[in-house]
Amino acid sequence: MEIPLFDLRRPLEPFEGALLEAAARTLRSRRFILGPEVEAFERELARYLGVREVVGVANGTDALTIALRALGAGPGDEVIVPAFTFYASAEAIPPTGARPVFCDVDPELMVLTPETVKPRLSRRTRAVIAVHLFGNLAPVGEIEALGVPVLEDAAQALGSRAPDGAMAGSLGRAATFSFYPTKNLGCAGDGGAIATSDAQVAELARTLRFHGSRDQRSFELVGFNSRLDELQAAFLRVLLPQLEGWCEDRARCLERYRKAGLGELVRLPAVLPGARAAWHVLVVRSPHVDRIAAVLREAGIGARVYYRPPLHRQPAMSRYAGSSALPASEHLALTHLALPSWPGLGPREARAITERVAVALAGIGADAPSRC
Ligand SMILES: *Cc1c(COP(=O)(O)O)cnc(C)c1O
Repeated sequence: MEIPLFDLRRPLEPFEGALLEAAARTLRSRRFILGPEVEAFERELARYLGVREVVGVANGTDALTIALRALGAGPGDEVIVPAFTFYASAEAIPPTGARPVFCDVDPELMVLTPETVKPRLSRRTRAVIAVHLFGNLAPVGEIEALGVPVLEDAAQALGSRAPDGAMAGSLGRAATFSFYPTKNLGCAGDGGAIATSDAQVAELARTLRFHGSRDQRSFELVGFNSRLDELQAAFLRVLLPQLEGWCEDRARCLERYRKAGLGELVRLPAVLPGARAAWHVLVVRSPHVDRIAAVLREAGIGARVYYRPPLHRQPAMSRYAGSSALPASEHLALTHLALPSWPGLGPREARAITERVAVALAGIGADAPSRC
């Protein structure tokens, strides 16, 4: 059975007519940049998240850079970022003039915690980027209680919910999202957004995305040309109403894998008790991930080791690496494996994947999960 890591066909197929209609409507409107579709989508996403404002931008990486600038990050500042995340989380920092400070993650939840952040704080810390990695929530409130604003990188966690019902992206001073096609809510190209309930941050982000101008005549800041397209916003408006259902299904994937017995073969991800994790991908751990990935891929099943080496060991980040040990990030980089968790992945797929994992591990010891 071929099972891709991301399936864009099944979730999108029922909406093809509505998407084509949205494209036609936009084409006929001849409003392609910052028009009614972007405005409406910003309102609709803000309502879904429970925040005051959303600002649509060109992609999730720009969203981080612009949000950091809106939070005041600049030369001489430090921004704390996990060493175990997608490269863009750190790459977005130097264009502001600030310097990334790499921080370790919790070995179970794979996100920053107040304990890992605290030793990295300094007089120069302007913000902490808490990445809700793979869909798991970072403890944003507890980190902000250290006295530093948190920017949530929620690119992988749109639709994840905290135990008190608050959505990922509504927990910190500001948050960013990506609508890259394989993300939880994807468009037909690149897209991103900044969410915040801070009116000043929202106003600055809006100004920065349009060349640092409020009125298109006076240019107050050196900004960016980074807008969400009308066409992408029109698509996203068709798909946003589906997001809740998709997230419920993503969250159920963990249970499906558990029932299939995957937890006896590899370590399943831990979830914050009471939270709903809308798994972007389901990341398991084992000392044998390379062997498992090879066997799965041979069987036509999408499986990927993502963040190896960790960010402080990436060539472009070596000048920011520092000398602090980041043992959990190092260990996770060697032992994590992303498995499919898209909406529509049923018990049959979960069983087929689990069977292949068992085949990969046959003969190399059944104690694998406990050692990782
Ligand atoms: C995808 C992603 C980004 C970047 O989003 P783009 O839209 O691809 O620029 C940033 N951070 C994380 C954690 C991501 O997964």
